[in-house]
Amino acid sequence: MADVILKNVYKYYPGNSEPTVIDFNLEIKDKEFVVFVGPSGCGKSTTLRMVAGLEEISSGEVYIESRLVNDIEPKDRDIAMVFQNYALYPHMTVYDNMAFGLKLKKIPYTAFAIDRKKIRSLTKELKLTIKNEPENQEKIKQLQEEISYLKQNKVEVIKYRKHTRQEIDDKVMEAASILEIEDYLERKPKNLSGGQRQRVAIGRAIVRKPKVFLMDEPLSNLDAKLRNQMRAELILLRKKINTTFIYVTHDQVEAMTLGDRIVVMKDGVVQQVGTPTEVFNSPKNKFVASFIGTPQMNFLDGKLIIKDGHYFVNVFGVDVKLNSRLSSKLKEKNISEEKEVYVGIRPDHFKLGLEDKETFKGNILVSEMMGTEYHLHLNVNDTKLAVKVPLIGLDGELLSQIASGGEISFSFENDYIYLFDKESEESLEN
Ligand code: ADP
Ligand code: MG
Repeated sequence: MADVILKNVYKYYPGNSEPTVIDFNLEIKDKEFVVFVGPSGCGKSTTLRMVAGLEEISSGEVYIESRLVNDIEPKDRDIAMVFQNYALYPHMTVYDNMAFGLKLKKIPYTAFAIDRKKIRSLTKELKLTIKNEPENQEKIKQLQEEISYLKQNKVEVIKYRKHTRQEIDDKVMEAASILEIEDYLERKPKNLSGGQRQRVAIGRAIVRKPKVFLMDEPLSNLDAKLRNQMRAELILLRKKINTTFIYVTHDQVEAMTLGDRIVVMKDGVVQQVGTPTEVFNSPKNKFVASFIGTPQMNFLDGKLIIKDGHYFVNVFGVDVKLNSRLSSKLKEKNISEEKEVYVGIRPDHFKLGLEDKETFKGNILVSEMMGTEYHLHLNVNDTKLAVKVPLIGLDGELLSQIASGGEISFSFENDYIYLFDKESEESLEN
């Protein structure tokens, strides 16, 4: 069963000529961790806020646990949301910040009682029937009997009660222990570090035991080191509380490391949905290929050619034979004409030095020593290339060549090239 379903969801903000979210479709499974990722302004927060009920859904449907929630108030959707700016109450202690939501949230329970609510609604229906369809004696009799039964018999009804002080305390302490913030429960937010505040904000969401956790760039306000640490903590947290997550970020590293599945968005349109591996290894278009992976994939102007029944791609004036996987894909698609393409090569898939295959020459513009690898910026016939070179396996000659700059030979791995249609920018492997 899917836990959260978005069906043909659109968002039109008044005053904007174009829709902000366009035909968003997704089925999120129970306990799945899904990440919406894309550049700033692509509609991630808007989509999340529609799931939360903080933003009206212009058209389409959102279901949470099979229940259509379009017209359900945020507080009744059984979700909890954590934002980038933690929005803690400054005058309350950490404990009270976490307990606050529980004081408002009522607990449903069943009890045996006279169901007055049902009696009221049936009586209303009876009056309407007598007025509008007096000839329908059968329905009138049925309603009268049902009302009379309900007046005399207790039935199971759902009632609501507040949390007891003990229940609140148990839940706050459980969340505090999961997040290891027991030591500063009596502090006010102003006396906490950014990371601690973010933990309290998460704690406030955990105590409510929501069915779905919504997080909108929760780590963006933290410095790089803390962000890495909190990212790892989120992975652990997820194991501990084991519920459905929708997480929004513009950071592809967060998306890759946290998500069971990633939804890549651009200009309000979902570009691809897949596991991190799928999205990384088989990007559906040039945008996804460029957005996922760092340093970014290189895109070279190329031309697909067919010679003696074999596929080649011409880059920098050299015909490079395509491997059998790509070739059979192109054959399957009946591509029988030469066409302009973008050749995508990740920085990791180059090799420096002379090899006994197609070799190119480039000029080293910049070399960045990253500890275990070099990041080189090469200029090849006025095209810039980003190349990653692990230090392991570099011989002395290559090392000194890198150090002195100038011209260098390189080749790339034919097994790791991607081809995108020049016009549509779609992958030719789709
Ligand atoms: P993201 O979270 O991916 O950065 P948002 O969903 O916040 O993107 O915003 C998507 C687009 O919608 C942006 O162009 C933004 O300016 C616009 N937008 C967001 N909120 C409103 C609003 N309340 N009224 C009008 N336009 C809005
Ligand atoms: Mg946003």
